[in-house]
Amino acid sequence: MNFEWPEGRRFAICLTHDVDRVKKTWWQSLYYFTKTRKPYHLKTLINKGSNPYWNFTKIMEIENKYGVRSTFFFLNESKKLEFLKPSTYKLSLGRYDINSPEIMGIIKELDKNGWEIGVHGSYDSYKNKELLAKEKWVLEKIVGHRVIGIRQHYLNLEIPTTWQLQKEVGFKYDASFGHRRDVGFRENQIMPFKPFREDDDFLVIPTTIMDVALFYKYPAFENAWRKILEIFKYAEKNGALITILWHQRVFNENEFPGWNRIYEKIIEEGLKRKAWFATCKEVWEVFK
Ligand SMILES: [Zn+2]
Repeated sequence: MNFEWPEGRRFAICLTHDVDRVKKTWWQSLYYFTKTRKPYHLKTLINKGSNPYWNFTKIMEIENKYGVRSTFFFLNESKKLEFLKPSTYKLSLGRYDINSPEIMGIIKELDKNGWEIGVHGSYDSYKNKELLAKEKWVLEKIVGHRVIGIRQHYLNLEIPTTWQLQKEVGFKYDASFGHRRDVGFRENQIMPFKPFREDDDFLVIPTTIMDVALFYKYPAFENAWRKILEIFKYAEKNGALITILWHQRVFNENEFPGWNRIYEKIIEEGLKRKAWFATCKEVWEVFK
């Protein structure tokens, strides 16, 4: 392959965060307490002032420390709760209002300081053009400029329909192509690719390592880290792009012990191996 990453770098790392939820609700506190028996979760139930799922400042501090930037995908879930369908509970009850002052505030702050803002397509939007268009428009109104990227919630994807719909409403890239319960390069796609035509500027940026999938498959810290190193070596050898998906809510040591540490280690390892760090938009600019 004669492709070259910017600045003569041998491989690249794209950092991303999905913002699924921003508030730990009382029923989540109760659920985790019954599941883990850790008194910590009861404390979060009683202490209304604490919010372990609001970690934007922490993420900004980490990335500032290393001089890197990432892409945040914000969800605008509109699915209604259906009493007889428990599957809708989590989607509907956990949602936040993207137009609330605190969410709009953090979106603007991130955008102003060099982070990229993208749409985290709501649960049903992968097959619904109106929803895709609406969610894009709402976010654009908040940031005051065009938004070009999307990742679908739960990595919901109907190939190629979803990409076609995203493209029709004006998105320039999708970052939903990846494993839900595994890590690594899906279908050995180590590079962004154009799903339609080469002269088209719609790009698929595959997702390589998602936090929940990593710890689902490799619950022990050492095993998770070993797997990441394996992916790093492979990427370095083959000039690949590694896209990291770390959910906003997991940057809390009490809730997800070790998760933010692995995220920092990923950045340190990438800097050590001289990877090119980029937001999804910057990756798109290289490939468009
Ligand atoms: Zn999501």
